[in-house]
Amino acid sequence: MKPRKIPLRRCSGCGESRPKRELVRVVRAQDGTVSLDLTGKKPGRGAYVCPSAACLAKARRAKRIERALEVSIPEALYNAMADEIARAESERAAAGQGEVDAG
Ligand SMILES: [Zn+2]
Repeated sequence: MKPRKIPLRRCSGCGESRPKRELVRVVRAQDGTVSLDLTGKKPGRGAYVCPSAACLAKARRAKRIERALEVSIPEALYNAMADEIARAESERAAAGQGEVDAG
């Protein structure tokens, strides 16, 4: 089996590098609109944050996503990110529950 290279990206909140697919991506398209990218496949410049409310809050406070993308992030997009992160966190909690039951 060929070892697969995992692309790493840096979280805008805590600054740690993590596998790209574990992070929430925000992308700025060529026309300057920013959106949440759940597929990781939208074209444009991306910024990343861990699926963690704490990291999102940090990134937001320090305006790291704005700086990375050189664009202002609308309130609605931060809310969408928070929603997505909350969903990911509850999924993780549910998965953790399963592990506890199995173990
Ligand atoms: Zn982080």
